[in-house]
Amino acid sequence: MIDLRSDTVTLPSPAMREAMYRAELGDDVMGEDPTVNRLEALAAEMTGKEAALLVVSGTMGNLVSVLSHSRRGEEAILGDQSHIFHFEAGGASALGGVVFHPVATGRFGELDLNGLKNAIRPAATNVHYAPPGVICLESTHNRCGGTILPPTYLQAVRELADAAGIPIHLDGSRIFNAAVALECPVRELTRFADSVQFCLSKGLSAPVGSLVCGSRDFIARARRTRKMVGGGMRQAGIIAAAGIVALTEMVERLAEDHRHARILAEGLVELPGMHLDLDTVQTNLVILGPRAPHPEGPSFAQELARAGVKIGDIGGGRFRAVTHYGIAQADIHEAVRVMQKTWRELRY
Ligand SMILES: *Cc1c(COP(=O)(O)O)cnc(C)c1O
Repeated sequence: MIDLRSDTVTLPSPAMREAMYRAELGDDVMGEDPTVNRLEALAAEMTGKEAALLVVSGTMGNLVSVLSHSRRGEEAILGDQSHIFHFEAGGASALGGVVFHPVATGRFGELDLNGLKNAIRPAATNVHYAPPGVICLESTHNRCGGTILPPTYLQAVRELADAAGIPIHLDGSRIFNAAVALECPVRELTRFADSVQFCLSKGLSAPVGSLVCGSRDFIARARRTRKMVGGGMRQAGIIAAAGIVALTEMVERLAEDHRHARILAEGLVELPGMHLDLDTVQTNLVILGPRAPHPEGPSFAQELARAGVKIGDIGGGRFRAVTHYGIAQADIHEAVRVMQKTWRELRY
């Protein structure tokens, strides 16, 4: 089986298991797990922030970040295609009373700058508005197919945010994919945001964990918020040890995943009836689907699974294939062959 549903299916590398076995541990809620402290220092250093906080998941990282930036009744201004808006169970609203204010998302995951400007409504001047609390950006952008927000765009949003005095949170679950694709240090992307969340457990292949990075003050607040939502972990060095390996050994290899995604996309784009936007294939995600979806019958993903290739069904007649650690180039060539054959058989 070639499993291209997600880069979250990656298993820890042998070096990670070894590091977990040998990890020096302590009680992290008391700040005494040396391995967690090392991971947090490393993450802060790499993202160019003062401090960092290990959390259970990307969802928890975004939740803790939004709740630490905004108060109940304030708005999180975010993309209408963003992960926070679509896939995080409405946590910031449900648990923190933060109001989601969605803004139209462009083809590459960018929020329309005019839309963003209009969404920032200074409450001081009008009793009708919920005041803005935080702007959330996403890069690489999940629903847009792993697209990258370029530094010029991040700078433009930074200027808007500064003019309004609002912090920016970057949902950078796959920000290392963006940095590797742009061939720049990740801090060149994270420097535009006040806080960033990134996942260890996607392309970086660690079993569990995300990091929130930001100023010392912000991380102190985030630490309290993490405790509040039940995210204080004790001997968390056991997972942090894998995270350190992820950050030191698994970043550069993401380029291989990007090459594989490109091979996959180019092998499929010319199939009859195929809708696949090659311009959005910038990292390790490929979104594809029939131009005119079949109204009934088995879906492409179901048929493919029978033939030995798993991809994700993301709804609306669209599918997602994700390249990752554990998928070799030969697997990609085999996947292309099986996908071409299955596609033709389904006569899209
Ligand atoms: C995966 C993902 C998350 C959530 O991460 P989990 O660890 O699955 O909770 C958040 N944002 C984006 C853009 C993601 O791709």
